[in-house]
Amino acid sequence: TPSSVPNQPLDAQRLWRQDKDHFIHPFTDFSVFHEKGCELITDSEGVFVSDIHGNRFIDGIAGLWCVNVGHGRSEIGQAMADQATRMAYFSTFNNLSNAPAAALAAKLAELAPAHLNHVFYTCGGSTANDATIRLVHYYFNRLGKPTKKRILSRRNAYHGTTYLSASLTGIESNNWEFDTLDHLVTHVSEANLYRRPEGMSEDAYCDHLVKEFEDTIASIGADNIAAFIAEPIMGAGGVLVAPDGYHARMQAVCRANDILYIADEVVTGFGRLGHFFSSEAVFDTQPDIINVAKGLSSGYAPLGATLISDKLYEVLGTPQGKGGVLSTGFTYSGHPVSCAAALKNIEILERENICANVRQVGPYLEQALKSLSHHATVGDVRGSHFMMCIENVADKATKELLPLEARVGDRVAFEAQKRGLIIRPVGHLNVVSPPLIWTRETIDTAVAILDEALAATTASLQADGYL
Ligand code: PMP
Repeated sequence: TPSSVPNQPLDAQRLWRQDKDHFIHPFTDFSVFHEKGCELITDSEGVFVSDIHGNRFIDGIAGLWCVNVGHGRSEIGQAMADQATRMAYFSTFNNLSNAPAAALAAKLAELAPAHLNHVFYTCGGSTANDATIRLVHYYFNRLGKPTKKRILSRRNAYHGTTYLSASLTGIESNNWEFDTLDHLVTHVSEANLYRRPEGMSEDAYCDHLVKEFEDTIASIGADNIAAFIAEPIMGAGGVLVAPDGYHARMQAVCRANDILYIADEVVTGFGRLGHFFSSEAVFDTQPDIINVAKGLSSGYAPLGATLISDKLYEVLGTPQGKGGVLSTGFTYSGHPVSCAAALKNIEILERENICANVRQVGPYLEQALKSLSHHATVGDVRGSHFMMCIENVADKATKELLPLEARVGDRVAFEAQKRGLIIRPVGHLNVVSPPLIWTRETIDTAVAILDEALAATTASLQADGYL
């Protein structure tokens, strides 16, 4: 049950009204928002967040897959305050720099796979992916291969919300009534083991996906393709874990065709799967570029980074042509306060062996969530370590989905929140991606709440005639 915590005096009604009248919320259903307005989250500590009315919840989504070290880490706040008072901001253009940006770049090079030693800073994950594609095009232009432009991505991938990263994104509903840069991006099938063709083995499914990838490359022509981008485990598109060996095989096809391999580790990085980077440690790949954000700073300050291989840097970092200026970068590339937050965040991850906690406790979370499979609507429980998801269905045998208007994901999330747990509804899915400091006890409490929430959801769906 939610319990009360002391809040600073905030005028709940006034803030609610200000928000409703003026804040255009991202990824928000306005038909609900106009009626209900916002819920103000005002306090946080450890694995908990509290709303303005003092109701406390277990955070089951790490903010938005990002608060990896948990909430209320005053030492991160202190590091940010120290940096902000000493030198809050100065440019990093030309040859200017600042201490946290320099130190963090070296730290990232140390933590990343051996061949990734160069860091281009961005403001978050979308801008990391966006900047990457520009750098990749620049790279091939400078190599005298200007036709290599097309980017291969996957259906149901999520890579962000700038124009270019939204175009890489393959979740159709994200782009409803928006435009996309279709001349730059081709989507191939995602790896969805749960919904793979009936009767096909995992190995045969993997062969099938690799073959489709090869065929796509052949039809577009490798000379026209710059890169392939993939999340090691697809996140927002449904926490989809690919078949064993899939990523390594996709990478081999890329190598054979002079196509760069970009891993979007915005969610999978910084411990969520038990390692700082999962590409090499878990999936046996050596990407040319790895993009990170979210857990890099645990959400304490906006920050993203694209980690570039030595091979690419040789070209990007070599003065040539028109003055040798790499003419891209943000005002906030290498923001000192964000980089100070990231350095302290990484220090905490290392000092508290948080990756090891995830490796130990992760399988317990997987098992605990799988124990909910008996509920009428739970079609699939999948994911890995601290990146999990429940897929709700109308019929387990046929895997048929409930109609959209049943809002099953919202129902489960609502029932869980009533009982003190926040999880994320995504259509008919519910994502569980907690702070990496969840213990077995937290998991037991959260899963007991989910158990009740799923039972209540079944009852409400039955009452409304959906089941
Ligand atoms: N890539 C992936 C895999 C993501 O999950 C996200 C955000 N959910 C992004 C990129 C975009 O990051 P941001 O929202 O920080 O721009």
